[in-house]
Amino acid sequence: MDVWITECKRRATCTYCGKTIPAHTHMVVCQYWLKIDKRENGGRSFRKKMYFHIKDENGIHCWEANGIAAAERKPKPVPRGRPMIQVAPENRAIRSKILNQRSTIIQRIRNEVDGTGMGEGTDPPNFERIEHLGIMLEKLKVKIADYGGAPKNW
Ligand SMILES: [Zn+2]
Repeated sequence: MDVWITECKRRATCTYCGKTIPAHTHMVVCQYWLKIDKRENGGRSFRKKMYFHIKDENGIHCWEANGIAAAERKPKPVPRGRPMIQVAPENRAIRSKILNQRSTIIQRIRNEVDGTGMGEGTDPPNFERIEHLGIMLEKLKVKIADYGGAPKNW
């Protein structure tokens, strides 16, 4: 966006307050290109201009007020990712040990389901073993409750 100050030759309407900017006073001009078509190439752009009082009859700096209002309308960035789980330093080692055990168990369950378990590679899933692993997983979940709690994607 280009912004400059110029003398108002005839009359203009202030974008911010909607009142007339009298001829032969200075005003702020903002020029920008409005893209109608969102396609990468092509699409039509229109040159748009906005006019603002430098200072209106009430002493309001319309361009400045408009800019501040626009900045406040802009959505605030949302922090990415999940909030960090707070774990006391003395519990961190135990917590990461539990998480490691968990991923080992999950891998073993996957192997069972895929038929690449303890057996020949094409074994049908051993549901007894899967159930046993599931119980181990639940026990770990109970255990980790004392060490920062289970992560959301447990
Ligand atoms: Zn104004």
